[in-house]
Amino acid sequence: MRGDKPLFERMALIGLGLLGSSLARIAKREGIVEHIAGSTRSRKTLERARELGFLDSIHETPFDVVKGADLVVLCSPVGTYGSLSAKMAPALRPGAIVTDVGSVKQAVIRDVGPHIPEGVFLVPSHPVAGTEQSGPDAGFAELFEDRYCILTPPPGSDERAVEKIAEFWRRAGSMIEIMDAHHHDRVLAITSHLPHLIAYTIVGTASDLESQLIREAAEASDVVRTREVIRYSAGGFRDFTRIAASPPEMWRDIFLNNRDTVLEMLGRFTEDLTALQRAIRWGEGDKLHDWFQRTREIRQGVVDMRQAGSFNPVEQKVDPESR
Ligand code: NAP
Repeated sequence: MRGDKPLFERMALIGLGLLGSSLARIAKREGIVEHIAGSTRSRKTLERARELGFLDSIHETPFDVVKGADLVVLCSPVGTYGSLSAKMAPALRPGAIVTDVGSVKQAVIRDVGPHIPEGVFLVPSHPVAGTEQSGPDAGFAELFEDRYCILTPPPGSDERAVEKIAEFWRRAGSMIEIMDAHHHDRVLAITSHLPHLIAYTIVGTASDLESQLIREAAEASDVVRTREVIRYSAGGFRDFTRIAASPPEMWRDIFLNNRDTVLEMLGRFTEDLTALQRAIRWGEGDKLHDWFQRTREIRQGVVDMRQAGSFNPVEQKVDPESR
């Protein structure tokens, strides 16, 4: 709550895209930290962050940005965490807490954990909040409002450090869940990772089909209809194209770092898809209807839990179900 004392003196952000810049904006607005230091990979993003004014200081390297920080938040794609941690570790101040926003959690413990010096605490976190936009302009202070933030402290973690990170996210507007990293990766594989994989697949498949239809029409000297995928992208397909626009680097790292679990979920999904395929082939309407009825009720549950959409001032859009 605004008016509370800052929780941290100095927060260091590494990565200044959607997540990093949103965190800076809410931390500044709510006075959650006294000073916000930021660094990123490219000079261009660093300059843009300076122009946007959500940082108090900017730094060239991970080593420099974490100096004197009592909170470090990794906000880059998860595949970068290992090498960033190796670079920042010698500058970490005793008593500092290192957290992150990565979408997979076992890999964070695996890649960051070994670099954390004695007397520094690692409390991985995953704010289940986002849009398909990226970069420092895409961020907004309300991103974490009414969203879950999942903490996955490794066994034996310092309880005060865990509570401090929980409080940090609460002040950013989130609701806290604490779970084991393996459990997190299984649940998120089905609720987030697989849907993205399906979106990436279907949009690519549709585009391939479009190219083929154009080729066939040209060969038959028929009317060539171009851009049908875009023109007729009503309803469901349009949502898939939105999801399939998510940052490629981030999602490459998620799939590579949650490989076994995503493959397991893909196996389960394929079995169910085959069952529906069979129901269509054999005209089993009741089976299809029952399945669709069940999933409709699941959607209602998502709406009831106020997790159906998000406010995004960058797009000037409010999903009425979420507010
Ligand atoms: P983003 O908008 O693409 O921003 C990524 C940032 O990381 C950019 O500032 C980029 O730098 C920086 N970066 C990349 N490689 C780096 C490196 N080697 N060293 C330092 N900085 C580096 O992505 P995002 O959506 O904020 O995602 C960031 C993290 O949040 C990911 O781990 C993702 O899993 C997690 N997450 C994302 C969402 C979502 O919906 N987007 C939701 C929850 C969690 P430059 O711009 O300088 O190249």
